[in-house]
Amino acid sequence: MKMLYEGKSKIVYAGEEDGTCIIKYKDTATAGNGAKKEDLPGKGRLNAEISNLIFDYLAKNGVKTHLIKVIDDTAVLAKSAEIVMVEVVVRNVAAGGFSAKYGVPEGTPLKNTVVEFSYKSDELGDPMINDSQITALGISTKEELETLKSMALRIDELMTELFKKAGIRLIDFKLEFGRADGEIILCDEISPDSCRLWDAQTDKKMDKDRFRRDLGNVLDGYRDVLARLKSVLN
Ligand code: UDP
Repeated sequence: MKMLYEGKSKIVYAGEEDGTCIIKYKDTATAGNGAKKEDLPGKGRLNAEISNLIFDYLAKNGVKTHLIKVIDDTAVLAKSAEIVMVEVVVRNVAAGGFSAKYGVPEGTPLKNTVVEFSYKSDELGDPMINDSQITALGISTKEELETLKSMALRIDELMTELFKKAGIRLIDFKLEFGRADGEIILCDEISPDSCRLWDAQTDKKMDKDRFRRDLGNVLDGYRDVLARLKSVLN
């Protein structure tokens, strides 16, 4: 297989058919733009299965995604897309960078859902960027940004409902989108690496913050998320 790109947590290969690619999840965990890095055996398989379940659920609810089919426990066949160079962060509850920046205690509910953009650039440390800066730099258009926002809010509604059934609070998450066949599709992954997920009863963290903050038992949280999603989706 021809490797097209190796990222921090996934490798992308060219697919056999034009317009497709194969995405393989790795076991590597990174935080702080790669400053902290560790191998967590089994993480790739857990994230792949969790993300596939969520993408499948979103697709059944009308969200267009890159996922074509699952190949094996760490690889999927996906539509090739031109990635929109912004990360879209959706927040329901204050945490992480938002809490630090605005001095709001983690866990504070937000009066409305927050949608934020960051410019996808490892070199620059993914700086936050606003709509007019994005359009000024030609990264995206006003119309496309409206599509990203409305898709992000719809995904938030659907995921909040799904995780609620699983006894999990969806605090915040990050999405990436791409352009394929003239439309915007959801790309990348949705997993405990890219979401903050707290147990609804105890607020125990079940996501990558366990790794970022050295809380231990990182993959136990991921396994729990997977088991609970399976129980509500089947
Ligand atoms: N996030 C991500 N990748 C990034 C930055 C953030 O997946 O490069 C996710 C993160 O897991 C969290 C949400 O986006 O669910 C918001 O993260 P935040 O901006 O608070 O950043 P952090 O606290 O990780 O610095």
